[in-house]
Amino acid sequence: MDNRTRDKVFYITTPIYYVNDIPHIGHAYTTIACDTMSRYKRMKGFDVHFLTGTDEHGQKIQAAAEKQGITPQALVDRIHLNFKELWKVLNISNDDFIRTTEDRHIRVVQAMFKKLMDQGDIYKGTYEGHYCVPCETYVPESSMGPNQTCPDCGRPLTMMKEESYFFRGSKYVPQLIEYYEKNLSGVMPRIRYNEIMSFLRGEVRDQSVSRTTLKWGIPVPGDEKHVIYVWFDALINYAAAVGYLDNPERFQRYWPAVRHMVGKDIIRFHCVIWPLMLLALGLPLPRSVIAHGWWTVDGEKMSKSKGNVVDPFKMVKDYGLDPFRYFLLREVPFGSDGDFSEAALVGRINSDLANDLGNLLNRTLQMSESYRGGVVPAAGSGYDDILGSVLENVDAAMERFAFDEALKEVWAFIGRANKYIDETMPWKLAKEQDDPASVAALDKVLMNLFEALRLAALLVAPVMPQTAQRMWAQLGLEGDPLRELYDSFHWGMGSGTRVRKAEVLFPRIDIREWQKAREEKKKMEEEKKAPAAEHEPEIAIEDFKAVEMRVARIVKAEEIPKSRKLYKLEVDLGYETRTVCSGIKAFFTPEELAGKRVILVTNLKPVKLCGIESNGMILAASVKVDGNAESLTLVAPEGDIPLGSRVS
Ligand SMILES: [Zn+2]
Repeated sequence: MDNRTRDKVFYITTPIYYVNDIPHIGHAYTTIACDTMSRYKRMKGFDVHFLTGTDEHGQKIQAAAEKQGITPQALVDRIHLNFKELWKVLNISNDDFIRTTEDRHIRVVQAMFKKLMDQGDIYKGTYEGHYCVPCETYVPESSMGPNQTCPDCGRPLTMMKEESYFFRGSKYVPQLIEYYEKNLSGVMPRIRYNEIMSFLRGEVRDQSVSRTTLKWGIPVPGDEKHVIYVWFDALINYAAAVGYLDNPERFQRYWPAVRHMVGKDIIRFHCVIWPLMLLALGLPLPRSVIAHGWWTVDGEKMSKSKGNVVDPFKMVKDYGLDPFRYFLLREVPFGSDGDFSEAALVGRINSDLANDLGNLLNRTLQMSESYRGGVVPAAGSGYDDILGSVLENVDAAMERFAFDEALKEVWAFIGRANKYIDETMPWKLAKEQDDPASVAALDKVLMNLFEALRLAALLVAPVMPQTAQRMWAQLGLEGDPLRELYDSFHWGMGSGTRVRKAEVLFPRIDIREWQKAREEKKKMEEEKKAPAAEHEPEIAIEDFKAVEMRVARIVKAEEIPKSRKLYKLEVDLGYETRTVCSGIKAFFTPEELAGKRVILVTNLKPVKLCGIESNGMILAASVKVDGNAESLTLVAPEGDIPLGSRVS
């Protein structure tokens, strides 16, 4: 295969996502970035292969399945669909979706493991180290967190020792360093390249690649009490998916053109372990590993406990798919950390999308309709340079995976087109249509604007496919913009096209209404979280001491025929038995109450309830909504303490 053909092949992968995770904005971002790059390369005429998938083995899956009483396979068969569903909603154009529990993957993992074992690059030894059970990884002392905790999840580490197979990766380190020295774009961006190089120049140890403590994984060929280490297993998906075993021709076509996009937290696996494995296997190394940053939310780290995890399904529902895709790629310089905020998203929708792009389309279509009956004038009327070098600049930015810069270039172009309207003042020309010079000038302006919009639709297509299609339809163009090629674009091709009626592309969001709705929603959520605390006035310790409370046991509970809320309780204090009426009928059956130990207020003045004298009150905690208890739990002493003991 000659080099030119090979240059027109583009294979891109997302990491395979851990199937037990709930899909969040981080997953959405990586996958949208890969999708945009795939769509862009397709429009550049490349043979693109875009792979994503799920990582389905490991300790956590095994534990989660046990808890649910199902097999791990049944569990992953169900939950991997969360990701497939999200990719559908996000309009992801992946060509393949690989699961590590698929036979096509398992066979390749075992074949590679065996090959490395046969050639002596995998050997048996003993591994001892600080292990993080949830992360399924040994943590070297140098990177442990405070008090021997996991640097990734912060949990305490366990000392573990087991028989293990090791991969002799250290042997290939000099070769890898040499490769990166010659291939500066082997790791992108540069800050990650430097990080990897300094790691490689330190001490790189052989990797433990099997476990005996784990059941849910791929067995080591010929030694079934060992299961292949999850990372070793997972990385191989990239090669398995393009036919490493089954289709050598296909593998040879796509493999040398592979780019891995990953979060910056997993670059060591992708830029050190994986290339060392490939070197040992005698396979070409990835063209690039591209590492992006992390998302914070409104300036804070995203975490489940803070409750600020951004749900991509919800964002698409609230703001639309294309604005969400646009925002993620435009807002943050690729490779850096980004901050997600709905306010910033709304800002982008109103300015970039509604104002700049939406208005350009609207104004142009309306002028075409009123001045030329909706037909784009002939190209013979000439062309003004709105284009500039947008195509070259976008291409240069995309080569660096700088999505934000590519979009800035596109929006500069859209800005020039808007400015062109202001400068040429077509509404003025339209009033002078008995002058042939003005007729020609107006023709030219309308043709140029149409062409600018046709190109704008193509340029936004990789990021906002649906928007491109809507623009295409409104411009009255045939076919699908996503199937067009940038190289075949020529200025003036659209002459004679009959445009359609202008429709609003992106409705403006009224900021005041949006803020109001947002505050109301926030208030509602907070009320749901913590029921409004009503506080009593301060009391003195003497007041508290005046309340006599003792440990008691409910002997039996009886219904009171006339009451929906009350039970008649017989309560044993050890030194005496009392009758107490208690409003807890909605929450317990008499059987549940019999024998329960409670705290009883014993010196309350007796009251008559439903004709029964009540001598005391039992303590309970409740969640109240509108003054009514919605859930309730009895307060009980911990441990064994004699009935009648005083509570203070
Ligand atoms: Zn951990």
